[in-house]
Amino acid sequence: MIELKKYHLWVLGCQMNKSDGERIAGVLQSCGLKPTLKEAEADLLVVVACSVRQAAIDRIYGKARQWEKRRGSGKLSTILTGCVLDLDKNKMREFFDLIIPIKDIKRLPDFLEKKANLDLAAASYLKLPPRYGSKFQAYVPILTGCNNYCSYCVVPYVRGREISRPAKEVMAECQWLLQNGYKEITLIGQNVNSYQSGRYDFPELLEEIDSLKGNFWLRFATSHPKDLSDELIEAMARGKHLTPHLHLPIQSGDKKILQAMNRHYTPGQYLKLVAKVKQRIPGLMISTDVIVGYPGETKSQFNNTAKIMRQVLFDMVYINKYSPRGGTAAAKLADNVSWREKKRREKVLNGILKRTALERNKKLINKTVRVLVDGWKQGDCFGKSDTFKTVVFSGDQKMIGKFVAVKIISAGSWGLKGELV
Ligand code: SAH
Ligand code: SF4
Repeated sequence: MIELKKYHLWVLGCQMNKSDGERIAGVLQSCGLKPTLKEAEADLLVVVACSVRQAAIDRIYGKARQWEKRRGSGKLSTILTGCVLDLDKNKMREFFDLIIPIKDIKRLPDFLEKKANLDLAAASYLKLPPRYGSKFQAYVPILTGCNNYCSYCVVPYVRGREISRPAKEVMAECQWLLQNGYKEITLIGQNVNSYQSGRYDFPELLEEIDSLKGNFWLRFATSHPKDLSDELIEAMARGKHLTPHLHLPIQSGDKKILQAMNRHYTPGQYLKLVAKVKQRIPGLMISTDVIVGYPGETKSQFNNTAKIMRQVLFDMVYINKYSPRGGTAAAKLADNVSWREKKRREKVLNGILKRTALERNKKLINKTVRVLVDGWKQGDCFGKSDTFKTVVFSGDQKMIGKFVAVKIISAGSWGLKGELV
């Protein structure tokens, strides 16, 4: 084993992976390793992989070939963790010195032949103290894994069954964050709505965190439409710290495709749900995920997705081209929508989004919004509004990490420009 001093973390994929990366950083730093943002400076490279789409896996193969020379000459050790299918694990073995499931990261010090300045007896890896990537924004995992088995999705296979984190632990992490001046807490899980720990379901957990003292925003992701309860809507509406933003993945606007995807709701039910939440929470912003080119998706079925996008007027849509994932139910079906056609469908939806997002953003002109500043460049402050809109305005670097009031003066599809009030 080479003497390890500096590590570089390469995280692909979702918020959950980012949060896992923070726990890995916690373990590595407790072993005396220092982080570096420059891969070339590192003698340890840790990859937190994402298997949701093939593209991320391809990127790892691409990079692995580049680092093989340094690894071959004994200057680099490599570790792979995160979401990886067994199939990919076998193919990637030659590029990594260690492939380790995320729930076993407390074994890292043994592998590194280091002593950790940390209590590693924790039963769950989520108990390991994270090294947060920010001093004012934090992801707090409340649940890992997923039991939903949407036909296209690899998550239940790579993350396993749903496990809720004890409410006491979640509360303790949130309390610590608030005592240390954090301004934004995002509770994360593949389907936060199915959280259950002792007497706490998700709305009750939200209410409990919302009642904590402090000047902060409380966000969460992701909600499955089939499980979005009236109690959750009430908790969102009543919460002092909860923000008026809901990420509610629709995936398709076609009844038959939704059924084939095993999503357990119809387009009609989704529309009713959106109307109900919007009525209870005025000014609510809604974002969603969509998949185009699911096996067998006809043009008219795709048009139903385009239609529902025009109806809902989403604020943001993450559009994904379907890619078959080994082991999932959909992988057994012919991936029969061509790449070109998937790209065309993506472009059509992007065109709709550009118009609806602009229409929605224009409604904020002349309104004053609260913004948490998270960046600064050449006299411009950047941040997100409570409704999760990107806002730019002239300001001071010292405003980073602070809430400010900004009057919106102009709007584009992807963001807003404003003036400090
Ligand atoms: N738990 C979340 C999403 C997890 S994956 C939910 O229930 O919505 C994030 C997004 O990736 C999904 O919403 C879906 O739109 C997309 N996705 C998942 N599997 C995919 C696949 N095989 N091909 C293309 N997109 C996929
Ligand atoms: Fe995947 Fe469906 Fe679970 Fe989301 S709810 S992680 S899309 S299986």
